[in-house]
Amino acid sequence: MTTDWTTLAEIAGEPRTRASVGYEDRAAELQELVGDSHAFLSGHLGTDFAPSVVVADARGWSLGGDEIPYGIPYASDNGFDLVIPADPAGNFLVDAYAEVGSRASAERFADLIAVHELGHLHAREMGLDVPQGWLVELVATYLSYCFLAEQRPADAEIWHRLAQARVDSVTPEHRSLETLDELYFGVGAENYIWYQDALTVMAVRVHAVLGIGFATALRATGIGPESSGPELLAAADRVFPGFEEWAAELRS
Ligand SMILES: [Zn+2]
Repeated sequence: MTTDWTTLAEIAGEPRTRASVGYEDRAAELQELVGDSHAFLSGHLGTDFAPSVVVADARGWSLGGDEIPYGIPYASDNGFDLVIPADPAGNFLVDAYAEVGSRASAERFADLIAVHELGHLHAREMGLDVPQGWLVELVATYLSYCFLAEQRPADAEIWHRLAQARVDSVTPEHRSLETLDELYFGVGAENYIWYQDALTVMAVRVHAVLGIGFATALRATGIGPESSGPELLAAADRVFPGFEEWAAELRS
């Protein structure tokens, strides 16, 4: 569907940013975060596109349709919009992470998902085109973590620490990568967040060894939209030996 954000006021600067009334300062901060991460990823990946940032309150959020509930940042399927909730109140992600960290760090964590969403756009634009599922999510988090580790170490620490804390404290019903690929959001909100946390912990391991090299090496394996689950896992394991073992541990 086409989305018309033009009823939201535009604020000055790059990347292009729109905000609901009253959230201009917050939008300017997120604009800087997205701008810096976009410059970093474009420089490393050779990607070339212009993302835009939308910081919307609950009312403005509905301009994007009703598929995504208010509170979960997302990237548009067909464009380059990063849609971020304006107000942390009422955001269930913040509530989930506040169980394992301070409220302030949980709110920051939720904002950093904007960088993960930007990671999705870069993965798509660099031609890493694989079916929706665990690997897509891992790559988006991995790319965002590469930026945070290099330029926002305090944010990288929050991202890793809260994800690790939830992996250590939550015992979900579904744990296998296959189930995530099959059910996706259908695993339930809590369980979906657990999966994202488990992927974050793995992405940090990959980054520690390969730095920014994983995504381009993964693309070079030739995986594509028709690749099967086992093929994707095998390809990841060729680039970073340890994926097969990790997947087996998650399952057990
Ligand atoms: Zn994602």
